[in-house]
Amino acid sequence: MPTGSGRVAGVMGWPIGHSLSPRIHGYWLAQYDVDGAYVPLPVRPERVASALAALVVLGFRGTNVTIPYKEVVIPGLDAVSDTARAIGAVNTVVVQDDGRLYGTNTDAYGFMEALRQGAPHWHAAAGPALVLGAGGAARAVVYALLTGGVPLVRLANRDRARADRLAADIGGAIQTVDWNARAGATGDAAVLVNATSLGMTGQPPLDMPLNALPSSAVVVDIVYRPLETPLLKAAKGRGHLTVDGLGMLLHQARPGFATWFGVDPAVTPALRAFVLAEMRT
Ligand code: NDP
Repeated sequence: MPTGSGRVAGVMGWPIGHSLSPRIHGYWLAQYDVDGAYVPLPVRPERVASALAALVVLGFRGTNVTIPYKEVVIPGLDAVSDTARAIGAVNTVVVQDDGRLYGTNTDAYGFMEALRQGAPHWHAAAGPALVLGAGGAARAVVYALLTGGVPLVRLANRDRARADRLAADIGGAIQTVDWNARAGATGDAAVLVNATSLGMTGQPPLDMPLNALPSSAVVVDIVYRPLETPLLKAAKGRGHLTVDGLGMLLHQARPGFATWFGVDPAVTPALRAFVLAEMRT
């Protein structure tokens, strides 16, 4: 339990009830016996700017930002990191000592940490990546892969123009391919990433033929509800090493916690088991 001088941070979104962030940060606050609190911040769309300003007024250390505000918060911040600028989205806001609001994006970091932990043998130079999707999450994934040293990212999205915009915004070795040509882009892929919402509970399944994918390729799905998506199940059945989306969610939380609460927390099997149990309830 926090004392009167406890540090406070939160997660801002609308709606916010689905967010697992309060459970993740709550777990770490208890584990490290931190004098602090992490609270859900349900903010209506017309109140985003005033909610950001209120963080400073109320003495918050900062906040995570989730759907649907990762892009719209940017004009309300005093500065954003190069990573957030390149991705075009902020998921972590820090109230600095002088009261200025600094935004960054830790989704790319979270993705790469999860990939490295889930597939320790994978290395960036192993070959091209094929990424499906061109939404906010795909932007973070593509940025992470390119800055991590992947030589080429092939990008397939249902709306090709959106993929082209992503490629133009992020720059570097990105080759967009037609959604209908995605199966033909797997031949030399060292990693395949689903960054669409397909396969998520309540969404249509992802139709992704894997027969041409090299058996050494790692298959990642950033969707984490369900944890084992049909894509991951099919990939496992073909002998691929797979990485689910929960690792990204856990790792992206780490930098914010470290900055706000002064402890660099560990992503452990126990945390993962705790969050999985929460997801089931
Ligand atoms: P967006 O709404 O920004 O993007 C959705 C993407 O899915 C777009 O590329 C869209 O294509 C594609 N898509 C949706 N429906 C279809 C369809 N019927 N056929 C083909 N493509 C489709 O969402 P986000 O990028 O924010 O999130 C994507 C997923 O990633 C979500 O499931 C989310 O839960 C997950 N996620 C996981 C995180 C983690 O930490 N593990 C972090 C963030 C997100 P189009 O552009 O053509 O509409």
